[in-house]
Amino acid sequence: MSCIFCKIIRGEIPSSKVYEDELVFAFDDIEPQARVHALVVPKRHIENLNDMTDQGLWFAMLKASQQVAKLKGIDQTGYRTVINCGPDGTQIVPHLHLHVMGGQLLDSKMG
Ligand code: AMP
Ligand code: ZN
Repeated sequence: MSCIFCKIIRGEIPSSKVYEDELVFAFDDIEPQARVHALVVPKRHIENLNDMTDQGLWFAMLKASQQVAKLKGIDQTGYRTVINCGPDGTQIVPHLHLHVMGGQLLDSKMG
């Protein structure tokens, strides 16, 4: 499996881990777009949001996002979660991931 995020989950590529449980792994984005920018990924390879059908895993990703926000100290100041899907969504890495961004006032414009 050549997927870069699967390699990160397996520890074959280094990452700055923020949170982990049996279903989900979270790590700092290598090119942060905000002072805090982490990625929450399912440990099981799922290409994108279209392929996400597992309710339990979906809930685990959202709970992990809450944990990331708490661990990064941004849960009270606020943050943004984003999932890019497919070409128009500018998804670059084809392993489902949820961006958690904060630590500063974010640009309110979308797109
Ligand atoms: P997306 O455009 O939603 O597919 O976002 C992919 C994200 O993965 C980008 O924000 C990249 O900076 C990030 N990224 C790519 N490679 C790595 C890596 N090795 N470690 C951490 N983040 C990465
Ligand atoms: Zn993968």
